[in-house]
Amino acid sequence: MTRLGPPPDPADQNPRRTAPAVRLTFHTHLEPPGPLRYLGAMDTDLTIIGGGMAGSEAAWQAANAGLRVRIVEMRPKVETFAHRTGNLAEMVCSNSFRSDDDEQNAVGLLHWEMRAAGSLIMESADAHKLPAGGALAVDRDPFSETVTARLRAHPNIEIVEDEITELPASGATIIATGPLTGSALADAIAREAGQQSLAFFDAIAPIVYAETIDMGTAWRQSRYDKGETQEEREAYINCPMTKDQYEAFIDALLAADKTEFKEGETAGYFDGCLPIEVMAERGRETLRHGPMKPVGLTNPHDPETKAYAVVQLRRDNALGTLYNIVGFQTKMKYGAQTEVFRMIPGLQDASFARLGGIHRNTFINSPTLLDDQMRLRSKPHIRFAGQITGVEGYVESASMGLLAGRLAAAEARGETLPPVPPTTAMGALVTHITGGADAKTFQPMNVNFGLFPPVEGLKSGRRGRKDRYKAYTDRAKADWTDWLAPQAQAAE
Ligand SMILES: Cc1cc2nc3c(=O)[nH]c(=O)nc-3n(C[C@H](O)[C@H](O)[C@H](O)COP(=O)(O)OP(=O)(O)OC[C@H]3O[C@@H](n4cnc5c(N)ncnc54)[C@H](O)[C@@H]3O)c2cc1C
Repeated sequence: MTRLGPPPDPADQNPRRTAPAVRLTFHTHLEPPGPLRYLGAMDTDLTIIGGGMAGSEAAWQAANAGLRVRIVEMRPKVETFAHRTGNLAEMVCSNSFRSDDDEQNAVGLLHWEMRAAGSLIMESADAHKLPAGGALAVDRDPFSETVTARLRAHPNIEIVEDEITELPASGATIIATGPLTGSALADAIAREAGQQSLAFFDAIAPIVYAETIDMGTAWRQSRYDKGETQEEREAYINCPMTKDQYEAFIDALLAADKTEFKEGETAGYFDGCLPIEVMAERGRETLRHGPMKPVGLTNPHDPETKAYAVVQLRRDNALGTLYNIVGFQTKMKYGAQTEVFRMIPGLQDASFARLGGIHRNTFINSPTLLDDQMRLRSKPHIRFAGQITGVEGYVESASMGLLAGRLAAAEARGETLPPVPPTTAMGALVTHITGGADAKTFQPMNVNFGLFPPVEGLKSGRRGRKDRYKAYTDRAKADWTDWLAPQAQAAE
């Protein structure tokens, strides 16, 4: 079996330098007619391209269900600008899995669900946990070394070092190549899916919980009342600004702390969508003639006064619980964003489901391309998992790997798993990317309670939040346990 190389020496800060050359064995009887080169020695039921958070978890789940799995990982042979080692499941930036509170926090709930499903990523993170209050901070190198060693040691898993440059013509496959997918494979995906269905950057506008918008100040209206139906004519929420408020807002934008672009991040980006602070730098009136233009709108709270500028929010999910601030992609630091965006009248008490950002990020338009089993509609032998599906974050990516691995394993047994309940964190995420999100404005998403169907009969607003979140997490745990149970029985 071809391996990625021996376990890295923890004393070596940069295992890439010492990774040995890998001799690859060819077995011609395994080569499919298509362009994917199979390089390993083992008969395979499932090929996973990319051994990051998602690919590692997918492999673990599928191999534990009895499939013979081959992971094809391009590092350390081919590097990315963000990875540092040849380990699988490398954490490229922060060392945090975020909140571990499974009663009051959606990502904490996702941790709980993954642990309940025997997640390798969670088990390894727990084994290398660092003190961090309520968050799950992880000692990154021992964490990824553990994941790599556990996968190497698994009798059903083979790891091959190679860059895949084409979509496989046949054979069950999971593509989990992440935000920094190799460019040749990205081109192949674009050829299959259409250029417009593959993005290389996420330009994320902040997303606000609808219930925290002050509708005594804001109002619902589409510009020029456009739309066939009442719903369309009221598709936007508008927040008005006076001249003084606008000027103060521009001053705050110009003064705010911003994140610099990393080397290799910006190529080809700026043609698309400018961060609002860059627009403000180009001229104080630029935003008023761009995303904040006040035309075609009448404020029903004060119909006689024309707003000097208007910030618009657009519905972000089918449930109508989340709204994104239109055109407000930004590189402001998170702390600065909350402060600056709460200056917008109507958003003074806003809670954010996610803040804005602009990153190098390869992702597909999952709502149009994937079915509810995470399969590419046009080539159903291929599943996608991880950040490339339009989820965002280590845990979310690993969770989509967990699901893809289980779905692939069930399919190999000739079964189809029932849909994951959308009331669970896992189900809320997969429902969002495969249908709940608006395909036209699809941008990567963290798990958050705005993706969950509401629990009826609970108080809305900030006051009821604690009870509401507890009700969401209780319901999720019960539904996730029920979803897992038949699979556990089948495995016995
Ligand atoms: C610069 C940067 C900073 C980030 N910071 C954070 C953060 O602080 N916190 C957070 O939660 N998330 C962060 N993310 C997002 C992070 O990448 C994801 O959360 C997570 O790593 C995605 O998991 P994944 O498995 O989808 O992709 P990855 O973990 O990136 O794994 C994909 C794997 O596929 C391999 N690969 C790519 N193309 C090919 C190919 N053609 N053939 C074979 N192998 C291939 C890659 O080498 C990689 O190992 C960041 C992303 C970037 C780019």
